[in-house]
Amino acid sequence: MKIIIQSGKVRCDIGKCPNVARYSVAPEGVSPSGYVNLCESCAEELYSALGRLLVPKSPKNMLAKKRGEI
Ligand SMILES: [Zn+2]
Repeated sequence: MKIIIQSGKVRCDIGKCPNVARYSVAPEGVSPSGYVNLCESCAEELYSALGRLLVPKSPKNMLAKKRGEI
């Protein structure tokens, strides 16, 4: 899964958003018609909404994991 900067004139895929997409979410092995296109503001909103649900692994946990404590 990668995020590419959208250079074409495609519309944002979020709801009824009328903006032109700035980013495309491009899963591995999927053609551009299967990309999820996001404008700048929807991408930011999505990012912060996901950020509330997905907690990044803290460095402390990763170190503990290396030592075999988790
Ligand atoms: Zn949008």
